[in-house]
Amino acid sequence: MDDDCFVVEGKMALPYQYFAGAVGSRFIVALRDEKKIFGVRCERCQRVLVPPRAFCDRCFGPLPEEWVEVGPEGVVTNFTVVRYREPYQPMEPPYVLALIQLDGADSSLAHLVNAPPETVSVGMRVRAVFAGEVRNNILQVAHFVPLEEKSPAGG
Ligand SMILES: [Zn+2]
Repeated sequence: MDDDCFVVEGKMALPYQYFAGAVGSRFIVALRDEKKIFGVRCERCQRVLVPPRAFCDRCFGPLPEEWVEVGPEGVVTNFTVVRYREPYQPMEPPYVLALIQLDGADSSLAHLVNAPPETVSVGMRVRAVFAGEVRNNILQVAHFVPLEEKSPAGG
């Protein structure tokens, strides 16, 4: 029986669209029109979640009446280096896809860090760079860049 079965290897490119919803839309409009990054504060557990969502992922409390501006700076909490090549990638590989905890947020946002992979580390501080054109998605923040190291004297 197994001799009659075989596997055909292949790849697909899959165009898609989705509705960002009321919460996601407000988040993206603020990115686009105000160049501001907002999270939502959970009334029950007080965590600020970015990106905003309709329910708290920890206590399942309904969210978001309190919108809180966060960032635009934050810290890399984890990252990976994307080395494979496929159509529609947001950057030329190899590139860094990081989890970034923005200042004022209690969760991390997955986004791009535009820096040589070997220079990126957990704990590195980064800053959002907004796209110049309308994109209407999370790439309204084009990417993050490392902050310059500050001298201990603050100069
Ligand atoms: Zn909560």
